[in-house]
Amino acid sequence: MKRLRLYFDTEFTELSKKGKLISLAFVSENDEIFYAEFDDFAAKTCNKWVMENVISNLLFKERETFIKTSGNICYMKDDSGKIANALCNWFSELGNVEIYADCPAFDWVFFCNLFGTAFNIPKEVFYIPFDLATFLKYRGIDPDISRESFVEKHKGQAFIKKIRLKAAGLHNALYDTFLVKAAFEIIETEITGVLI
Ligand SMILES: [Mg+2]
Repeated sequence: MKRLRLYFDTEFTELSKKGKLISLAFVSENDEIFYAEFDDFAAKTCNKWVMENVISNLLFKERETFIKTSGNICYMKDDSGKIANALCNWFSELGNVEIYADCPAFDWVFFCNLFGTAFNIPKEVFYIPFDLATFLKYRGIDPDISRESFVEKHKGQAFIKKIRLKAAGLHNALYDTFLVKAAFEIIETEITGVLI
């Protein structure tokens, strides 16, 4: 079955079961975007690193709840329930999708939790997520390389500048998603020459 590729990243308050989503981003292979910031996590539970690296790079820190859609591009800030609903609508517009992320062990659990359990994720979403780290390792590339340096080396500084303008920088979920998408594309087309 042909499924549209969606690249994915989230930011969350802590690397534990108690973590809450701060933001979430999907970018499709056709550059359709869903980016959401949550307003129902407690900022006071965030440690210094998260405050300095994640919260500081949010795009809508100063904004109240909103949703802005244009075609299949959606930006919003709201609580988890509203974001889950908007995501359901977005997936239903796109049709069947499969998800590609960096190291999504935590991200995927938080994503599933948005819908209650892994059995309740929207029907369009393939239940197996794919990850960049394994993809790098099996192509003989260190899975711990800096994604930003890797992408900059292959796509140039202008590309990094362009995505920074759209999405702040590292540890912004949308920025990281742009990097994941670029990294997959580089490996598939420039390095191995093989599209999977
Ligand atoms: Mg990230």
